[in-house]
Amino acid sequence: MAKKRDYYEILGVERGAAADEIKKAYRKLAIKFHPDKNPDDPTAEDKFKEAAEAYSILSDENKRARYDQFGHAGVGGPSGGGGYGAGGGFSMDDIFSQFGDIFGDSSPFGDIFGRGGGGGNGRRVRKGSDLRIKLKLNLEEVANGVEKKIKVKRHVSCNTCGGNGAKNGTSLTNCGSCNGTGQVRKVVSTMLGQMVSTSTCPTCNGDGKIISERCDSCAGEGRLLQDDLITLNIPGGVAEGMQLSMSGKGNVPSRGGVAGDLLIVIEEEEDAQLKRDGNNVVFDMHLSFVDAALGTSTEIPTIDGKARINVEAGTQAGKILRLKGKGIKDLNGYGKGDQLVHINVWTPQQLSSDERETLESLRHSPNFQPKPGKNEKGFFDKMKDFFH
Ligand SMILES: [Zn+2]
Ligand SMILES: [Zn+2]
Repeated sequence: MAKKRDYYEILGVERGAAADEIKKAYRKLAIKFHPDKNPDDPTAEDKFKEAAEAYSILSDENKRARYDQFGHAGVGGPSGGGGYGAGGGFSMDDIFSQFGDIFGDSSPFGDIFGRGGGGGNGRRVRKGSDLRIKLKLNLEEVANGVEKKIKVKRHVSCNTCGGNGAKNGTSLTNCGSCNGTGQVRKVVSTMLGQMVSTSTCPTCNGDGKIISERCDSCAGEGRLLQDDLITLNIPGGVAEGMQLSMSGKGNVPSRGGVAGDLLIVIEEEEDAQLKRDGNNVVFDMHLSFVDAALGTSTEIPTIDGKARINVEAGTQAGKILRLKGKGIKDLNGYGKGDQLVHINVWTPQQLSSDERETLESLRHSPNFQPKPGKNEKGFFDKMKDFFH
């Protein structure tokens, strides 16, 4: 699959464009590239779909925010890895569901064509509903990616009848109202001229067929609700609120059609010791001032378990040590973040009389007088070093 174009670029608007501008830009493109208006241009439908997909993301405040932050991966795009959003297909159904919003209730396109566009002959392929689950991940799983097997209650196709709802051996008969097409047509006047509008046949609900005898296993539904074990391959680097989608793992519609999608919303479990900062993790280490002065070797937690680090003699409070590559995998495959160890020096809050005496004897000792040199960077310089 070709690399996806930037949604803002598709609509020809600035990144900061207001909702109204985005709507206007899309409206213009939708009319320009409408396949019925471009019968001789085979690329028109693709452009039409591309614009519709861009609009579906940028017109939704949450999706737009995720897209701004994470790109296509943030909105279930094909760059998310792990086989999510494969095919990334944006169907005509999706597009028409937008038009109420764009053109008001009197959509100029209505239900004019079924999937595949054109004359509206043949039945629409019905898509089942999407399922949405929340998936809680700990920091290690977020950092390295993880394979999860989960049980999802979903409608799956009935094996007994093969999904059509009819009792084994019995046949389906054509619906009389629509002559088996599943759709009824009428001519309507629209702002684009006269168009043939096709809508779902109310008698057969678009199936085109009537069941004479129902399947015993599914009572004619063509599907069964059951627990399905699904393996999720979560890529490293996902973040709270991100939504991944697995196509075809949602509900199968009744009496045939394609399954909807399984949408997986990521929740990050907070780690007791490590804090996430983008692809880096930050650990706050507290040293006694004796250890800071004399140096020490100590164990600290990392994403992959404990690691031993050496603290040099004379280490100042506020120093940040960097453990390269001990952070979180980049979602788009650009390596790994680091672990930053932020050193705090612990000042004792209670002292015995012996301790007090020892410290008192050091109070005026020359080496205990602060002498910040050029190398002692202030707080802002340190921040600059580590985050740029
Ligand atoms: Zn059945
Ligand atoms: Zn019918």
